[in-house]
Amino acid sequence: MALTGVQIFKLLPKTNCKKCGFPTCLAFAMKLAQGSVELSACPDVSEEAKNTLGEASAPPIRAFALGTGDKAVKMGAETVMFRHDKKFVNPCALAVNIKDNLSEDEIAATAAEVAGSEIDRVGQKLRIDAVSIEYASGDSAKYEAAVKLVADKAPEAALILNCSDAAAAEAAAKAVAARRPLIYCATDDNAEAMANIAKTNNCPLAACADGPEALSALTEKIKGFGVEDIVLDSGAKTAKEMIINNTQIRRSAIKKGFKPLGYPIINFVLRDDPVYEASIAAIAIAKYASIVVLSSIEKWKNLALFTVRQNIYTDPQVPMQVAQKIYEIGEPAADAPFMITTNFSLTYFIVSGEIENSKVPSRLAVMDSEGLSVLTAWAAGKFTAAKIAQFVQESGIGDQISNKELILPGQVAILSGALEDKLDGWKITVGPREANAIPTFLKARVA
Ligand code: SF4
Repeated sequence: MALTGVQIFKLLPKTNCKKCGFPTCLAFAMKLAQGSVELSACPDVSEEAKNTLGEASAPPIRAFALGTGDKAVKMGAETVMFRHDKKFVNPCALAVNIKDNLSEDEIAATAAEVAGSEIDRVGQKLRIDAVSIEYASGDSAKYEAAVKLVADKAPEAALILNCSDAAAAEAAAKAVAARRPLIYCATDDNAEAMANIAKTNNCPLAACADGPEALSALTEKIKGFGVEDIVLDSGAKTAKEMIINNTQIRRSAIKKGFKPLGYPIINFVLRDDPVYEASIAAIAIAKYASIVVLSSIEKWKNLALFTVRQNIYTDPQVPMQVAQKIYEIGEPAADAPFMITTNFSLTYFIVSGEIENSKVPSRLAVMDSEGLSVLTAWAAGKFTAAKIAQFVQESGIGDQISNKELILPGQVAILSGALEDKLDGWKITVGPREANAIPTFLKARVA
């Protein structure tokens, strides 16, 4: 069970030395109890306390990575049931399932699709993270070859060895051990053999049982064999089962501190109908899955699921922002159009996207408005004539361009007169109200 702040405080050095960044040991203990700081921030904690506190202050859901390298997917470490309580920490991995009895060309083509699935959405790189290779052939040599082929064609993707046959899983795990694949899966019958494969190759292991109760007994058994990094499959297949089981697992781990269910969850949502599959996947993403395995990765489906995932894992209390600066789009000449907007991410990406669409090289000044959109920032007094004038003057842009013309968002046309008074020597032009009119507006200027 998790310790309270006071219980933790009793184990700290109580010197109030402030090295942890907090004024007192008690303040640090309170933060540690909330899971918002790491015990390692206190350099003077004793070994004995470390052992006690290390376990107690660990996140209720074990944290580890799926895969290796820059694109390894961090999982677990969640501390809340609802994202309005505190941000969800690690976005779930999306994986595609490939059967090893497909032709080499088909396997290679799907793996290549995974490797090329990355898109940029509001400044974040989003992709299909993993490939599950299913042992459907019954031929371990064929399985190993398929696993190696996927590893080769999708060199940065995490791998899931979807194979309950211990001998076939062992050979495949050995072949791609450097990629630290997830071994899927251990059941009550094969737990020891699969745990040995996971332990020998230093891989995480999925535990599969019928429902949370059976699952908790199985994870204890697997842990007893020396495997720490475990992923849970409760056998849920329908949307209703996923919601019920995933919620029960999450609640047991977070509210009750029940360690046998304190692991990331995997859901297989495989369906013949891709629209139906996308719907079930969205439910799994929203309700606590750390890995969602799909049967296909059409681009439209990826975009829908990437968007759901990105929204679920965005901190609702912190507006998404981009850095305040003057962005060059294309290779603008000294007399290129010079526009201004606020630093709300969505505003920036929509406006810069429309400028790109216009193919008119331009400069876009992005002013810090604490992540608010243009109208909201204006209403909140963060995007006023005085503040815009100060930003433009301090940026020094006036010395770098030849035309000294600033294009204001049409929604704040009301600021143009005041801005002209404050920006001596500048011409203020009112641009379009809506971003989708920017290409026509810019093209008309250079026609
Ligand atoms: Fe207390 Fe450790 Fe923080 Fe110092 S660094 S104030 S001993 S918790």
